[in-house]
Amino acid sequence: MSKPGISSLEDQCAEKGMRMTDQRRTIAQVMEVADDHPDVEELYRRASAIDPRISLSTVYRTLNLFEEAGLVTKHDFRDGRARFEPLPDEHHDHLIDIRSGRVIEFRNEEIEAIQEVIAKRLGYKLVDHRLELYAVPIAAPEKSK
Ligand SMILES: [Zn+2]
Repeated sequence: MSKPGISSLEDQCAEKGMRMTDQRRTIAQVMEVADDHPDVEELYRRASAIDPRISLSTVYRTLNLFEEAGLVTKHDFRDGRARFEPLPDEHHDHLIDIRSGRVIEFRNEEIEAIQEVIAKRLGYKLVDHRLELYAVPIAAPEKSK
């Protein structure tokens, strides 16, 4: 879908015709290296550590721009904060540890295939899906609560 070779989020923004200020560049770079589905406040912490002039509202606005441009995906993992990740190279689903908030990425070909079958049976061609598993660790001791 995108050009061959690795195009950075920053380059993709420029390709979409987005005006790239220094602050937007910094936020794009922080977003690019994040592999932990950070929320806005966490991205703000990371971006403002690089450039203290960056405000929380700038991070909000910039992320919304990236999202509208289809370069960043927003997730709601039911903990009351929107989480962001750069558009992945390959589709994956998420398992959310509801105790620690940890997000684990996975991909399962059987699940991928069966979803297409279900959509087809209902008379549709599947174009996208989201799957979130909410889970607790099996071996976790109860006393931590
Ligand atoms: Zn992910």
